[in-house]
Amino acid sequence: MLLVLWNVNKFKTLRKEVANSSRPFLIAGPCSAESMEQVDEVVRSLAEIKAVQLIRAGVWKPRTRPNSFEGMGDEALHWLMMASQKYGLPVSTEVANAQHVEKALKAGVHVLWLGARTTVNPFTVQEIADALKGVSVPVIVKNPVNPDLELWIGALERLDKAGVSDTVAVHRGFSYYNHPTYRNAPQWEIPIALRERVPNIPMLCDPSHISGKRDLIFDLSQKALDLHFDGLMIEVHNDPSRALSDAQQQLTPLQLSSLLNGLVIREHTVHDNFVEQLNEMRGEVELLDDQLFELLAKRMKHSATIGDFKREHGITILQQEHWKKMIAQRMGQSIDYDLSKEFVRRLMDEIHQESIRKQTKVMNPEKGRLEE
Ligand code: PEP
Ligand code: MN
Repeated sequence: MLLVLWNVNKFKTLRKEVANSSRPFLIAGPCSAESMEQVDEVVRSLAEIKAVQLIRAGVWKPRTRPNSFEGMGDEALHWLMMASQKYGLPVSTEVANAQHVEKALKAGVHVLWLGARTTVNPFTVQEIADALKGVSVPVIVKNPVNPDLELWIGALERLDKAGVSDTVAVHRGFSYYNHPTYRNAPQWEIPIALRERVPNIPMLCDPSHISGKRDLIFDLSQKALDLHFDGLMIEVHNDPSRALSDAQQQLTPLQLSSLLNGLVIREHTVHDNFVEQLNEMRGEVELLDDQLFELLAKRMKHSATIGDFKREHGITILQQEHWKKMIAQRMGQSIDYDLSKEFVRRLMDEIHQESIRKQTKVMNPEKGRLEE
């Protein structure tokens, strides 16, 4: 058999590569590298899907429970590099300590990534950052397992301080006890806030780890693109049902292909023709927001008046039974108003907290610090 060796694109900077990509940047590959044959087979199929720009595969797997498959370790690096050479695609893997960094770099891995269980630990992030001093390699930083924006930013800062500035963020959702839908709750507001705080950071979405199951991956990918994410990181296995890790969430290469065909890619910049109309519609929303805020201000003033009354008559601010009734009433109306139950609950909680703050202020005028 004639072995064709391609010139693997070694990203001068991954950031530029992502920014200049005409389509959403696409990272795909198995959760774990399992055998030489499996890596070869899946990378071959992914290379045929021209949209894939970077291969992913875990070699050292951080598992929640012991006695699960913990990755094939060092030898798997060579399977990745062989497939990379053979099919002309750069490869990435997860590093969770300085030794991993050293081994991955020595093998020639093109891009490294920090997993959610690493970003959460500043000692480990620092160890990795120190190991990367003086090395020019792109690093993908997944969000920490818990919804802590500061930790995510902190990891990027630690890398930056060590001279690793070619970083890309990946949103993979946040740990949640018994979430009804997702393996990890998306909490989209957190990656959005990261982009606000670190404006130039390219942001990709990993719908595989958010969903934990195949059938949600399309909708999550579409949503990420509609939120102007710069790309996707999707787990793809040649035979998902036999995968040694994350079997429920991996797609076949064919499923990835049809997912890509189905995605609608929308423009971020508003075309001149639409600016006027869009602004008009936004103007109406602004008017409605004005009314909402006036009403909220009125409502909170009234809460303060009730606070006065409670103080005069020695009644506690929180009336648990009354609050329970209020919540039940509004939750019951969520369908009539076409609002999601989650939104109604969060909105009512926020209104209630603000109301408690107002009443605390009138009850304890001298204890201004409790206001916050
Ligand atoms: C992975 O990408 O396979 C992985 C372990 O992801 P995360 O760090 O997001 O859990
Ligand atoms: Mn995985």
